[in-house]
Amino acid sequence: MFPRRRFPPRARSGEIGGCFCDRHRAAFLQSGGFAPGRWEELLNDVRERRPTALLRAWLDFTCDELSASFRRQREAFAGDLGIMVMYLGAEKAGIRLRDYADVPFRVGELMFDDPAFAPVKGKTDELFSVLFHRRFVRPEFAFSETTAYPADRLSGVHLAAKLVISTLADVRHTMFMSGLTPFPREHWSVLAPAMREQARRHAEIAGHRPRGPFKHVWGEAQRLIGQDNPFSLWLAAGVPFEVVEELSPEGWHFVSDHDAGELAAAPAGAAAKLVSRDSATSRPPRAEVVAESLPALFALKRRIQPELRDVPHVEEDEPAVCAWFPTVRKVMVWNLSAEARTLTLADGERRIPLRLGPLQATAAEVAARGETKAR
Ligand SMILES: [Zn+2]
Repeated sequence: MFPRRRFPPRARSGEIGGCFCDRHRAAFLQSGGFAPGRWEELLNDVRERRPTALLRAWLDFTCDELSASFRRQREAFAGDLGIMVMYLGAEKAGIRLRDYADVPFRVGELMFDDPAFAPVKGKTDELFSVLFHRRFVRPEFAFSETTAYPADRLSGVHLAAKLVISTLADVRHTMFMSGLTPFPREHWSVLAPAMREQARRHAEIAGHRPRGPFKHVWGEAQRLIGQDNPFSLWLAAGVPFEVVEELSPEGWHFVSDHDAGELAAAPAGAAAKLVSRDSATSRPPRAEVVAESLPALFALKRRIQPELRDVPHVEEDEPAVCAWFPTVRKVMVWNLSAEARTLTLADGERRIPLRLGPLQATAAEVAARGETKAR
């Protein structure tokens, strides 16, 4: 008899992991030459989410073990073995992402049902996580785990919207999963045309990177000790964005709460403009503090309007993702509203009206600027 399993397994996103049994305790203490008393100290660091040197050593130890296990299995399998990562999966779960850059990499991004995916933040959280994982994996090796659970609880319209996320983030393989029960048959009247449309749109921008003044940051502190609640709603502000690994003097960096705390403790990249959520308990004094709400983010967009003059962006205060691919002179706009909207894309002096159905995305040609090199 197999033990009964939950499907999907209970998400343990945000947990600082590893195996805390006696054998692993002994192996860890020995590996770092730590005195036995340090074990209690480590457990307290885990409980209180303190990014100490000891906690980092523990996560290194855990990641080393998991990466070695993966490599051994891959050799034994002698095939294209890949890894399955959960929503915002990272080093705190033993997954050292850079060890999996050259293998099939599949990510389950939560939002399995309509109540989770329907809010604008449900969509921006999912897009945020996919953009983060794509920092580590080539598009050809990127697989989504686009799950509905139970099978009939994520509408066809929502499943179709997830295809837009794959297009925007250049995830080449979208895997629809419904467990052991097929999707309701009527889903396919929505999904079939959406799949054809996204395949066509994806071909136009595949291999090109979104660029823009809003910077997507998910730093080490979030990956080591953070709960997985990213500051993501700014993706709905209708301003182009790009994924960065380091702070730079350009643009606005949206930092989640533990990253804000780390930057407060060791201010790096002093010239970088930071935007921190008001929920962060500590943050650098120079950070602009914004609530994670649409009105607050639209107000920020209006304040910085003069600096967006040469950046294509959505004019209205309506939730929309605006992804700019300057190397193909295209902008893709995704209406995050559950109703049809007419949005205006500002492109220098031009105004381009875009009529979009609920959760629909479209692309527009924009003027050439600066960058012409792909990727
Ligand atoms: Zn163990």
